[in-house]
Amino acid sequence: AKQRGKAAFVRYRPGMEAPVLAHIQLGGELRRALDEDELHLVYQPIVSLEDGRIVGVESLVRWNHPTRGLVSPADFIPAAERTGLIIPLGRFVLRETCRQMAAWLAEFGPDAVQKAGPNVSAHQLHDPGFVADVVAALADSGLPADRLVLELTESAVLRGQQVSRTLHDLDAMGIKLALDDFGTGESSLSLLRSFPAAIIKLDKSFVDGIEDDTADPVARQAVARAVSQLAQALRLDTVAEGIENQGQADRLRELGYTLGQGFHLARPMPAAQLTALLAAQRDT
Ligand code: C2E
Ligand code: CA
Ligand code: CA
Ligand code: CA
Repeated sequence: AKQRGKAAFVRYRPGMEAPVLAHIQLGGELRRALDEDELHLVYQPIVSLEDGRIVGVESLVRWNHPTRGLVSPADFIPAAERTGLIIPLGRFVLRETCRQMAAWLAEFGPDAVQKAGPNVSAHQLHDPGFVADVVAALADSGLPADRLVLELTESAVLRGQQVSRTLHDLDAMGIKLALDDFGTGESSLSLLRSFPAAIIKLDKSFVDGIEDDTADPVARQAVARAVSQLAQALRLDTVAEGIENQGQADRLRELGYTLGQGFHLARPMPAAQLTALLAAQRDT
């Protein structure tokens, strides 16, 4: 199932205004965005590379700015982190993901979408109230803990004792932890020994060009294979990210990947559109 309608991001180019000013402005506007419901989530399916069925979703935040249009999270998440607004923003993303996932679970049953995952910033992991926020989001939505996946980057989890305790608390509650953008950090391998990960997401940079058998892609294939073998040995699930064509999907399957995510499989979409896809999937 391919999705139409590429999201038309208006890149917020610092060149348009003085960069520092632009950031301050963005921070102030973000406050208003949170208060005025300018933020919403889209959901990108995580799909079985074997039969094309949707097995999970990643939630991604969108900011529909009244004059700038759709602003990319790559542009406003850093501003949110600098201003501390990432805490209420992250709480919104977490609560909304849990609420929506609980609704899908109620409508389509336990096998339609198995899990839903928001991205969690390092700043949130450092917030002493984070575990309580997660507990509240689960309780208020009624979503079982093992249906929630938190996507964390390597740099976010490499932050010492307190974060490590937080991660083990979340793991003990049954929440799944996914290592996002895997392979791009400096200590991917050693991290796996101490981090209670359930899922590894192979970074898009290893997927780009993996279908061409020229010199560099062969190196990417070696990395992709090594990651899938490592994951198998450690009994972790893997998701290959950023799949943009069938050649990549085929190659990744050969290399041991059963799950994928990418524009070729499905684009991020509003909840209502995914609900329609799930209904179609149920009826086939
Ligand atoms: P990410 O966590 O690695 O998310 C995947 C990004 O890749 C998304 O971009 C998604 O739309 C895009 N993508 C998916 N498939 C393809 C593909 O086949 N080709 C290409 N070129 N791109 C693909 P998006 O939504 O713009 O998000 C960018 C980043 O912003 C995310 O990277 C994540 O780090 C951050 N982000 C997004 N939403 C949130 C959020 O709610 N909270 C936090 N803390 N960060 C978020
Ligand atoms: Ca992610
Ligand atoms: Ca990623
Ligand atoms: Ca990324």
